[in-house]
Amino acid sequence: MKKTILDYTNEELQNIVSPKFRAKQIYQWIYQKNADSFNDMTNIPKELRKKLDEEFEISSMQIIKKEQSKDGSKKYLFGLKDGHTVEAVLLPMKKEQKDEAGNIIKEAKYTICVSTQVGCKVGCSFCLTAKGGFVRNLTPGEIVGQVLEIKKDNDIAANRRVNIVYMGMGEPLDNLDNVAKSVKIFSDPNGLSISPRRQTISTSGLASKIKKLGEMKLGVLLAISLHAVDDELRQTLMPINKAYNISSIMEAVRGFPVDQRKRVMFEYLMIKDLNDNIKSAKKLVKLLHGIKAKVNLIYFNPYPGSPYKRPDPKRVKEFQEYLLKHGVLCTIRESKGLDISAACGQLKEKEIAEGR
Ligand code: SAH
Ligand code: SF4
Repeated sequence: MKKTILDYTNEELQNIVSPKFRAKQIYQWIYQKNADSFNDMTNIPKELRKKLDEEFEISSMQIIKKEQSKDGSKKYLFGLKDGHTVEAVLLPMKKEQKDEAGNIIKEAKYTICVSTQVGCKVGCSFCLTAKGGFVRNLTPGEIVGQVLEIKKDNDIAANRRVNIVYMGMGEPLDNLDNVAKSVKIFSDPNGLSISPRRQTISTSGLASKIKKLGEMKLGVLLAISLHAVDDELRQTLMPINKAYNISSIMEAVRGFPVDQRKRVMFEYLMIKDLNDNIKSAKKLVKLLHGIKAKVNLIYFNPYPGSPYKRPDPKRVKEFQEYLLKHGVLCTIRESKGLDISAACGQLKEKEIAEGR
């Protein structure tokens, strides 16, 4: 079976092709000129093109389903070589602005949310991805491929930078080596050139891996899916809390290298009558004391048979106001694409329900 060239960092590719600068050219063709075949790479000698074509393919995945939401976000289901599927979401953050003559004066801004595993081992009780159990890790190329295909599908110019959030299906830190490689591939100046500072890795809180990620000095941003402020409740939502409790996570966060201008993001899933009270907000303020943090409140997104309910917007607003009043930066994440089953795992689940 052919290997996928997207799996290779520029450095690795340099050890395969000679002279080394060919790796740079191949990168430019794939990531900046959207080449679909090695034969298109006209500044590469024919002989090498042939050799590459015998050994490699450019992408190993295809879009098998798309859903467009009214708010502009678009959800993709990708089919992988072995028949498994994963999701990714394109989130337009800012609309393009034109002047009266129709010239673009401000470019649109996009964030792409990528998956890192087929399924997930962590087993959170509110998450659909967890329901199917764990199947396998994605390769670096399968992570990178989601972004490449989505950019192509939306005619987002190859040189236009997007932000990456590792918040799709799977636990990124449970697939740390491949995720770290994808960070490097994304950031390569001959490729997509997405600075690590535009890449956010979200974790359910594998404290030992947070430490390891920090030691790798990749320069990525960190997001912690906290969701609860006491261990008892957190354990019922996220069984991983038995292995890594809240204080062990906070210790790992305090040791994590953060760019002076940046913050660690804390995600807090608001669930009706469970963790949406002011008492929790109070505890959260205490917990974050001394950390350059930003809290993101997320509405729980219900799905058929889900054990929890969406919170009252008034409670979410009050929660936010409490945090702001006590000096904690806090935003409410609009539930993007509610009409397209936006939370991770939900499009895939729909496919299964529809009998694919
Ligand atoms: N495994 C990592 C990253 C993927 S999950 C993590 O847990 O951080 C990405 C985010 O989707 C998490 O913050 C998770 O809490 C959220 N999520 C999962 N199920 C959800 C649901 N039903 N409604 C809203 N957000 C959900
Ligand atoms: Fe895995 Fe994240 Fe879903 Fe928890 S929320 S089961 S860690 S994907």
